[in-house]
Amino acid sequence: MKLYNTLSKQKEEFVPLEEGKVKMYVCGPTVYNFIHIGNARPMIVFDTVRRYFEYKGYDVNYVSNFTDVDDKIIKRAIEEGVSSDEISKRYIAECKKDMDGMNIKPATKNPMATEEICGMVDMIQTLIDKGYAYEKNGTVYYRTRKFEEYGKLSHKNLDDLRSGERSLLVTGEDEKEDPLDFVLWKPKKEGEPAWESPWSDGRPGWHIECSEMSKKYLGEQIDIHAGGEDLVFPHHENEIAQSEAANGKEFAKYWMHNAFLNIDNRKMSKSLGNFRTVREISQQYDLQILRFFMLSAHYRSPLNFSADLMEASKSGLERIVNAADNLKFLLGNAKSESMTQEEEAAFAKTAEYVQEFERAMDDDFNTADAIASVFDLVKYINTTADADKSKEFLQNLFDLLVKLTDVLGLIVDKKEEMLAEDIEKMIEERQAARKAKDFARADAIRDELLAKGIVLEDTREGVKWKKA
Ligand code: AMP
Ligand code: ZN
Repeated sequence: MKLYNTLSKQKEEFVPLEEGKVKMYVCGPTVYNFIHIGNARPMIVFDTVRRYFEYKGYDVNYVSNFTDVDDKIIKRAIEEGVSSDEISKRYIAECKKDMDGMNIKPATKNPMATEEICGMVDMIQTLIDKGYAYEKNGTVYYRTRKFEEYGKLSHKNLDDLRSGERSLLVTGEDEKEDPLDFVLWKPKKEGEPAWESPWSDGRPGWHIECSEMSKKYLGEQIDIHAGGEDLVFPHHENEIAQSEAANGKEFAKYWMHNAFLNIDNRKMSKSLGNFRTVREISQQYDLQILRFFMLSAHYRSPLNFSADLMEASKSGLERIVNAADNLKFLLGNAKSESMTQEEEAAFAKTAEYVQEFERAMDDDFNTADAIASVFDLVKYINTTADADKSKEFLQNLFDLLVKLTDVLGLIVDKKEEMLAEDIEKMIEERQAARKAKDFARADAIRDELLAKGIVLEDTREGVKWKKA
């Protein structure tokens, strides 16, 4: 399995730090508004990376943070006359709704910066003790030049950076020893949220948040660190400088970055008025279509959002879902149970599509080609599945289609949502059948519910149900 490592600028064979395990950290959004469709790209891409590792049998520890203390959050809170906490909590909840709609698996852990301040203070102290950081008037800076490998991720050299130093200077920061130094801790301004520290009441810089949260939840060394390409410099470069100086070890083995999403071939920005939130898109399209659209290009290629491409994604996804629906219909009416020898041979042919799919995904997660192999499988299903086929054959095709689309996070087997009162009615009917010793009917009702994703549990207090 190969993936492109921004650090080496090459595709490299993936070798985990610990056999069978992947430790992965993905920089999450700053929560001051609904997430936009650009933010959705890394979410979908790296969720798919995670799913593919899981498909391959790895146990993935997936950590993605919410940046819940930031100038933009504070600004929004002041505008609305509420606390920063209220703003961040509101938009974390909204973000989780959008993620659910895009079928993004919940992370193993979603740390929030404001809950991890103690660890950040400790890490900053370690950097000061080791001579990598210094305090001036309550602000703590990182001594960039002291970290000899600075620039290794973004492939920038310090002297080039220095020639651009004037533009790096921010008012009030002229107390820095060097213009390249960046902030680890800043004192509070009036009305801002603040925490105690040995240097001042204040808050951490953005970069130290990820260094600390990654260390706390995944350890000092991780396999993959990921985010959008705008994070390479300075965010990830600074994270490396902090983590490697503090821990004395290589931080992440592989650095993955998705390219940007543009709209109608232009950068998405508020001033251009082409800014689209995931929530707006969800009013027009099922978010599964947005997911399909995002995966229809390689994650390292820029992707252009347009109405035409969304329509094409809609019909592409429909083609797959229709094949699954057709299989379900045939399954309900199949006359024989087990596969014939011919069917066995016909099913064995699908191995070709699985190989194609894996070859694409093994090659730096080429989801565009992986989707093409799913289409090949769909074509094969449409030409081989018919009313004469056995249940086993049809079920195998169905399961395979679900297995591959599930790696992409695409739901093709939509369970119809049942209303609670309808479920209760069926449970009552099942109880009546049991009383009448009609166990076949009682079992049939249980199976019918199971097919709709409802699991029954017979307990001492009666029958309970839950969603599978
Ligand atoms: P932010 O909230 O700006 O820190 O962004 C959260 C994540 O979304 C980061 O990984 C960014 O790199 C990514 N991101 C932001 N805008 C875009 C975009 N237009 N296309 C792709 N990724 C983006
Ligand atoms: Zn980060």
